[in-house]
Amino acid sequence: TSPISEVSKASLTTILNKNRHYYLDGKVADYIPELGKMDPKAVAIAVVNEKGLLIGAGDMHKKFTMQSISKPIALMVAVMENGEEAVFKKMGYFGTDKPFNHFSNLETMGKPLNPMMNAGAILTTSLISGDGQVPFDKILKLLRYITDNPTLDYNETVYASEKETGHRNRGMFYIMKNAGLISGSEEQLDNYFRQCSIELTTEDLAKIGYFFAQQCVRFDGDQRYKNPEISKLIQSQMLIAGMYEFSGEYARTVGLPSKSGVGGGIMISVPNEAGIAVFSAPLDAHGNSVVGYHMILDLVRHYNLGIF
Ligand code: GLN
Repeated sequence: TSPISEVSKASLTTILNKNRHYYLDGKVADYIPELGKMDPKAVAIAVVNEKGLLIGAGDMHKKFTMQSISKPIALMVAVMENGEEAVFKKMGYFGTDKPFNHFSNLETMGKPLNPMMNAGAILTTSLISGDGQVPFDKILKLLRYITDNPTLDYNETVYASEKETGHRNRGMFYIMKNAGLISGSEEQLDNYFRQCSIELTTEDLAKIGYFFAQQCVRFDGDQRYKNPEISKLIQSQMLIAGMYEFSGEYARTVGLPSKSGVGGGIMISVPNEAGIAVFSAPLDAHGNSVVGYHMILDLVRHYNLGIF
């Protein structure tokens, strides 16, 4: 049996309480003004084990915005519609030593590094067909399915704040439009801002981690979207760039495909086994949750979960 089946509420509670003090080492994101209002002390951890059962501790039902954790879901929709080859003609499979909002490699290579950083993710969302909000609605629909949570939606205030202040993202959008990678209007960028503003809980997030770990089979066994190739693609992208420029060191210390967001969430897939999610708003210099990272380190070491 998998070591993940040993995870209990008691052990998650111990890990959470041991690490929660690290919130003092981080800083809540405030470059999107609405995000600055998050409670720095809220903390949660959840596991969906190999049987699809949820175990969690802390503020598991507290909502936060997905931010960059929406990127793998948008990638899945874009690849289902266009095929992997067409999508990756326009962007790379490269890892990164650059922060999430860097312009690499738009000038030197003429295309984004990968779909896990902003430039590649903005491009990914623009490749989903439909006018206006339709591409976003497809992302939201898939998320509601994966989490089996029809109430999931985006936060209008965070969306407005992102749109208002997202000048770097707007810059990337227009460089890619100029290069012919993007053909539509700024409505496509709005869909990227909307997907970043989707609110969910740590529990929802662990279910998404499970979905990508388990060949896109849902936690309750529903196989409607089963797709081993897409699950391998997405986990590989999470491994090489899901934690941005920290991904290399993270592969050494944790060794699991993971995706973080500046809302303070981190989603982890234990390939062919389980999903894990952590939440705590204060971030390190790379934009990754400080308490979240420490909790993952403990969980992975304790249960020997890394893929290497
Ligand atoms: N909405 C954020 C942005 O585009 C997402 C970035 C992140 O979570 N790292 O800047």
